[in-house]
Amino acid sequence: HMPTAELQAIDAAHHMHPFSTNEDLAKEGVRVITRAKGVYLTDSEGEEILDAMAGLWCVNIGYGRDELAEVAARQMRELPYYNTFFKTTHVPALALANKLAELAPGDLNHVFFAGGGSEANDTNIRMVRTYWAEKGKPEKNVIISRHNAYHGSTVGSASLGGMAGMHAQGGIPIPNIHHINQPNWWAEGGDMTPEEFGLARARELEEAILELGEDRVAAFIAEPVQGAGGVIVAPDTYWPEIQRICDKYEILLIADEVICGFGRTGNWFGSQTVGIRPHIMTIAKGLSSGYAPIGGSIVCDEVAGVIGNCEFNHGYTYSGHPVAAAVALENLRILEEEKVIDHVRNVAAPYLKEKWEALVDHPLVGEARIVGMMGSIALTPEKETRAKFASEPGTIGLITRERCFANNLVMRHVGDRMIISPPLIITRDEIDEMFVRIRKSLDEAHAEILR
Ligand code: PLP
Repeated sequence: HMPTAELQAIDAAHHMHPFSTNEDLAKEGVRVITRAKGVYLTDSEGEEILDAMAGLWCVNIGYGRDELAEVAARQMRELPYYNTFFKTTHVPALALANKLAELAPGDLNHVFFAGGGSEANDTNIRMVRTYWAEKGKPEKNVIISRHNAYHGSTVGSASLGGMAGMHAQGGIPIPNIHHINQPNWWAEGGDMTPEEFGLARARELEEAILELGEDRVAAFIAEPVQGAGGVIVAPDTYWPEIQRICDKYEILLIADEVICGFGRTGNWFGSQTVGIRPHIMTIAKGLSSGYAPIGGSIVCDEVAGVIGNCEFNHGYTYSGHPVAAAVALENLRILEEEKVIDHVRNVAAPYLKEKWEALVDHPLVGEARIVGMMGSIALTPEKETRAKFASEPGTIGLITRERCFANNLVMRHVGDRMIISPPLIITRDEIDEMFVRIRKSLDEAHAEILR
């Protein structure tokens, strides 16, 4: 019940924000979010903000579902905590593992739980290296990832990621991580057709394997649709070629489904949308719709079998946390019983796509990409030549994001691209309202740039 200014002052004095500078935070003062319902946040001033990012790409079922609160309270009373180390288990963890094995494609039948996506990707690094060591090939320990990828913020997962700004700090990457380029045709395709470019970028994986030595490469990790890197939708030729290369050289394929999973791309998993058969899927975010911190790795029979035969010296205090697991299970029940993924496919995604792609008529917008409920637009001063702005990359994106925020709309910018990833339950009317705010913000940003 404190006035906003006091809350902001306390925040500024004591709270360290991820990926922020004090100068940026101080500029207009942070907004204090107090409540949320459906696709709307409310701040301490009573303003209603349309959250077109579903938090950090995670609140798939929307905010304010009492069922999850009730399940959490019940679980806290019954068994607030127990671990899954050694020879104990509990019903929420085993029931959630069982449900995930049912939902996941192919023989992805085993789940190793973590507290979120970063921890899960750290698990994956150690798991794939341990797998090959147990198979008598300890030298098969290089993991190939992609530039500009985001796989988390722990030392291991940030090493897998390919964000230059992250690699510049804190002594990462760890050894034996290698990065290839992402399939961003609009920005980097030059004279190639998208199909040619998709193949060329996929073949960088083969080139890297041959250069490093095929007996040294353990795994390739990628998101089916790269999210924080800018919603990079690969040309159609890309993923079949990646799958062919992984098969040919016996490389484990890790699909990071932290954003793409649980309906975001119009299927349960992004791997199904792009047609790949991963050995491991990283999950988090939409697993609990962000209501509780939980993530994990869904692992195929072969890898889980080998790992289960050795003592895998790895695990987290909160692996399979009972409250988080119960909440995740309830979230999956809602996604399933309320047919949220059908809503995405039949209602929300087609309507969103139509409106999103129409944004290219705006003078600032060069390209609009969208898969399911994740989309991005490229801002450009000249669409015909796909030109970049003369300003420092990201300047125009930041201006646009701030115009959105001032218009009570959360959108994210990655460089000079703008991104949306709204809750999957968004209605057509809410999409209409979102586009009123998007267009107003783009107009204002355009006017500000021209000034
Ligand atoms: N992988 C991907 C693709 C992500 O987008 C993220 C977070 O944004 C992570 C991993 C890390 O997950 P977490 O923040 O839960 O540790």
